[in-house]
Amino acid sequence: KEDKQTPILAILEEVAEWYSLQLKEHLQRDKAISYLRKRGLTGQTAKAFGIGFAPPGWDNVLSRFGTTAARRQALIDAGLLIDKPEEGRCYDRFRDRIMFPIRNSKGKIIGFGGRVLTNEKPKYLNSPETPVFHKNQELYGLYEARKYCKRLERFVIVEGYMDVVMLGQHGLHEAVATLGTATSDTHLRTLFRRVEEIVFCFDGDEAGRKAAERALMTVLPLMEDGRQARFLFLPDGEDPDSLIQQEGLEAFQRRLNRAQSFSDFLFDHLQGGEVPDTAEAKAMLSKRALPLIAQIKEGILKQLLMDNLAHLTGMDSQRLQQWLEHDQPAPI
Ligand code: ATP
Ligand code: MN
Ligand code: MN
Ligand code: MN
Repeated sequence: KEDKQTPILAILEEVAEWYSLQLKEHLQRDKAISYLRKRGLTGQTAKAFGIGFAPPGWDNVLSRFGTTAARRQALIDAGLLIDKPEEGRCYDRFRDRIMFPIRNSKGKIIGFGGRVLTNEKPKYLNSPETPVFHKNQELYGLYEARKYCKRLERFVIVEGYMDVVMLGQHGLHEAVATLGTATSDTHLRTLFRRVEEIVFCFDGDEAGRKAAERALMTVLPLMEDGRQARFLFLPDGEDPDSLIQQEGLEAFQRRLNRAQSFSDFLFDHLQGGEVPDTAEAKAMLSKRALPLIAQIKEGILKQLLMDNLAHLTGMDSQRLQQWLEHDQPAPI
């Protein structure tokens, strides 16, 4: 396994260095630099995140780095070349894109995200799954966050590369992004190993709100006493990048500190914004809430959620508890 990984990691490092060099030296660097400037990114930030430029062309990486059969194979295994042997073609995956290197927690480059400089689709292209790159395990910005600050108190999960990078530029170094996938159980376990608090901060759009509901269900079984999860909902049409550029670090920090608690969001979600005022509504709420609360580890948090459900339904806490344990009507 090690032997398969070594040449892949080595070639990813080489190519990443070349991509960042292209941002300084390529004939078409001006359009890449002006794109980054237009987005408000400074040269210092680009350097801190190792951002680069994959120039236009089908064989830049292939011809420069694929000098032997073994190196070509490593490029294919690394996801940098697309190999179509049946068509007799092999070509660069990333062309004419801004390149964001993705590092594992040890700092090794394991893949890339590439953004077009225009409004073309797909806007972002990620490395495929490879022996070193597993999207549902890795978080963009985690290595950089830990490198910047050894004693982190919380992580903020955002959707995109630009969100992590621009928050960092404004002085918020605790942001990490999932890589175009939903937040997974593995992602959350990785973060909870290092901090006690996670704030979910997805885009203020339909996709972002859906992602928050999914994250609520993913974080639920991981909740236990001492852990906090909170949800920050951004104004319509904004994402962390656009918002911190508009209102600055302090206002953004205030939003983070006021983000909705796990328990409030859970009950909002369960109640659909309404106070259950009929027996049917109370029964419906209990039926939806109990299997979810059941997933939380034994402890005070779980007990308080049960108390809240008891309060909302007017049920006796003890009888609700019996429902929870036996999924049965409590004896009268
Ligand atoms: P930007 O600000 O650069 O326009 P964004 O980060 O705000 O982009 P969104 O459209 O909000 O982009 O998407 C959030 C994240 O989802 C992206 O950063 C990227 O990681 C991922 N993503 C978006 N579009 C795609 C795509 N077509 N393929 C793969 N991943 C994507
Ligand atoms: Mn979005
Ligand atoms: Mn954006
Ligand atoms: Mn966005």
